[in-house]
Order: sequence, then C-alpha cells, then structure tokens
Amino acid sequence: MSELHDLTVAQLATKLRAKEVSAVELARHFLARGVRHEALGAYLATNEEVTLAQARDADARLARGDTAPLLGIPIAHKDIFVTRDFPSTAGSRMLEGYQSPFDSTVVAKLKGAGAVSLGKLNCDEFAMGSSTENSAFKPARNPWDATRIPGGSSGGSAAAVAARLIPAATGTDTGGSIRQPASFCGITGIKPTYGRASRYGMIAFASSLDQAGPMARTAEDCALLLSCMCGSDPDRDSTSLDVPAEDFTRSLNTPLKGLRIGVPKEWGELRAFDVERVHSSPKAQNAPEASVAKAIDEALSQYEKLGATLVEVSLPRTELSIPVYYIIAPAEASSNLSRFDGVKFGHRAAKYADLTDMYRKTRAEGFGDEVKRRIMIGTYVLSHGYYDAYYLQAQKIRRMIADDFQQAFKECDVIAGPVAPTVAWKLGEKSSDPIANYLADVYTLPASLAGLPCMSLPVGFGGEYMPVGLQLIANHLQEARLLNAAHQFQQATDWHQRAPEGF
Ligand code: GLN
Repeated sequence: MSELHDLTVAQLATKLRAKEVSAVELARHFLARGVRHEALGAYLATNEEVTLAQARDADARLARGDTAPLLGIPIAHKDIFVTRDFPSTAGSRMLEGYQSPFDSTVVAKLKGAGAVSLGKLNCDEFAMGSSTENSAFKPARNPWDATRIPGGSSGGSAAAVAARLIPAATGTDTGGSIRQPASFCGITGIKPTYGRASRYGMIAFASSLDQAGPMARTAEDCALLLSCMCGSDPDRDSTSLDVPAEDFTRSLNTPLKGLRIGVPKEWGELRAFDVERVHSSPKAQNAPEASVAKAIDEALSQYEKLGATLVEVSLPRTELSIPVYYIIAPAEASSNLSRFDGVKFGHRAAKYADLTDMYRKTRAEGFGDEVKRRIMIGTYVLSHGYYDAYYLQAQKIRRMIADDFQQAFKECDVIAGPVAPTVAWKLGEKSSDPIANYLADVYTLPASLAGLPCMSLPVGFGGEYMPVGLQLIANHLQEARLLNAAHQFQQATDWHQRAPEGF
C-alpha cells in the first residue's frame, strides 16, 4: 500500500470522505515530513497549532457530511500570498515578520473549499528570479539533487510538492514562476489565463502579468485546485475576468483524437537575444539542450500515439520577449514596490536623519540586489525621455507577440514546447549573472506577455537525471483543454509518478 504522502489530492479526498484517514492525521503526517526534510529550505513559516486547528475544523465539517471539494486536504502557500494565520514576507527582509490582517482571495477560496494550510513556502524576493536564490532568508533546494536549484520563483512550492512534503501548493507566475520550477522538479503546474484568479492579496510584482495557479503532481490535482482558486473578484481586483467559475475537471477524460498541437518552428533553434552588445559573457545559446530536446520530442511522439496531430506554427518574436518582459516587468515593479517606504508596513531603518534619509536607508536595508536592480531598470525605462524609447516600444512589441499567438491558434488547439532550455542548474552557477537568468526565461515569457493559460508537465529526464517539463499553451480561457491534454498524457505515462530518491 502506498504511504499517505504518495497519494494525490484526488486519492486523499476519497480517503477522507470514506473516513479512512482524518484531516488531523494527514496534517500531522505532512507536518512531520516538513520537519524531517527541513534542509530543502522549502518552508519559510509553519505553525503546528494553527494547522491542527484548521484540520480539526475540517474533521468536524467532514463528520457533518460537508462536501466541500478540498475538505481536509493539506496544502501550503507561496509566501507571496498574504495570510492571516502565518507571517507573509514575499521572501524579503522588507516584510520580515509582517502579519497581514486579511487573507488573499486565493487563500480564502481554498480555505473555503476546506483545504488545511501547512504554512508558507520559500520564493525569490518579490517573485523576482528563476532559482529561489534571491530569497532573503535561504535558498530552496531541488529534491532530485540538493546541490541544484529547484527553479523559481515558486521554488519552495515545487520542492515541497516534488519531495512529497505536501500534496499540492499554490504558486504565482509572472514570467514563468509556476512552469519553470514545476519543470525543474518534475511536477505539474498551471498558470491560468491572466485575470482568471484574483490578484487581491498577492504581493504585487508586475500587475499586468502576475497570476496565481496550483502546483501538484498530477493534472487532475491541478484541475481540482484551480477550480477552487478562480472566479471574478470585481470589488477587489478590477482586472479579474467577468467569467463564471469553472469545473476544470469536467473534460479531463476527453480523448485527444483530432487535437492539433502546434510546434513553434523557431523554438528548436533559438539563439540568445544578442547579449554580446549588452553583456560580456560568452554568447548564450537558448536552443534547448540536446537531452531536453529529446525528452520534448518523445513527449510529442507520445501525443501522436494518443491521436493528436503535430502542426508547425510560427512565433517569430519569441526572442524579443526577453527584452520586452525585462522592460515591462521592472517598470511595473518599480511602481508597485514604491509602497515599501518604511511608513505603512514592513521594515524601517533604526537610525536616520530626516524623512528622505529614512526612505533611503529603509529601502537600502530592506531590498536585496535583484529587487534593487529591477527598481532601477524600471525607474529608468519610465523616466522622461526614455519612456518612448523603451517602455512604449516594449508595449507595442508585447501586442505583436500576443497577435503572433492568435495567428498560431488559427492552425492549432494547443502549442507545445520546452519550458526551459536546460534542466535545473547548480546552486550558485548563475547567481552572479542576472542576464544568464533572464535568458533562460525565453520559452515562458511569450505566453505570459500574451496573458495565455499555460502549464508544465513532467515528460522525462535530461542532463544528469534531472526532470524535464513540457510546456503546453492554449488560447484564452482554455485551461480545461490544457488540463485535458496533460491528464491524457499522464494516463498513458508514469513520469509524474516518479519520486526523487529518499523522499
Ligand atoms: N524568472 C522571471 C523573473 O525573474 C519570472 C518570475 C516570475 O514569474 N515571478 O522575473
């Protein structure tokens, strides 16, 4: 018999309803695993008392016959969601010890669905990064090889799910932060259409891009969670879409016969955006590494066996998504992060001469290097004289990138390709080279800029036995189609069932 931590959310929900296990037993089991594997650096905050109180409440609801879909299911949240029950830091010293007076909408919705929260998960500071090394507190590690990064920024979430410290977690994705760590840790994660899930209470990085989504081992579990996370929130997030909540599990079992999968012809042969002009490091190659390309090709063949047909599509401006994103995201970040001034909440410098000095010292002490770098880039591209040259140009190209997808979707139902050019790299390998980190985002940025739903599912191993994820992208509001395609793949393969050794 499988151990409790090997079971999926769907399986655990069945066991809870059959009273074969209680919410309190589950909470204790997963809390203990969190403690045993603390060295992974997955958690930033836990609180046994709070968790067990929520679990007891879930058990009482179960006893009353309450049928909330996630009743008693243990989950944990990326520390970018504010929570009433745990501190919320966004991985930053600026918010160390900060206690929110309210729950973010996504957290409240999951709580309402009966999920029991085990705590807050590590992430890059304000979700800026691709490795979780930008966390002000500690890096998170990849359970497949603890000398490697788990990806980022939702690296704590991915590491925790892959190591079976928790059956599912929340993440956020601005430019790849759900898909890339999911790929690097061999789990499944989906970023829904921009506006599907409320951003209320998600500590803002780049507001026109930030989206919440679930990370779990299977597409079915992602569908279960996502169905509870979405829904319009007109009073609190004016960009949330006015579409009814949807049951994303409803079409999981639809056969794939006739599905047209678009394969972007530029994605196999990408060369880096011309970094040489902006950076002195050797010219990077963004084409997928051979072992990654092989895993992707094999996954596409598997899809053909399942009845899908492959069609070539073109996303000609893919490489431009790097400069476009790294102008727009920092521009929005520089504005969003102006609220951290030592006055309203969070850190304040202990000693200062006057108000300006207080701002300066507070922000110098509170923010890490990458956050400062982005605030400076963002302030620069928005400044008088440069706004037209950078920010406005980037917005125009963003629109063209979105139009390219619409062209492609005339030929296909979903687009498939790599999530990242490589497998997870070693801790420290790219930490002194921000541009190398940015370039590795080339495959995740286009869908983000276009606001499209997109996901990663495990499809094999590359490098030295590290997981490889396949990225699937669909047109707006077609999450159900993505989850269906992923679920069908997982019915025919067992990559999603592999566990890292020792977990
Ligand atoms: N790696 C990207 C960045 O550093 C994406 C981060 C994210 O999606 N939050 O901005």
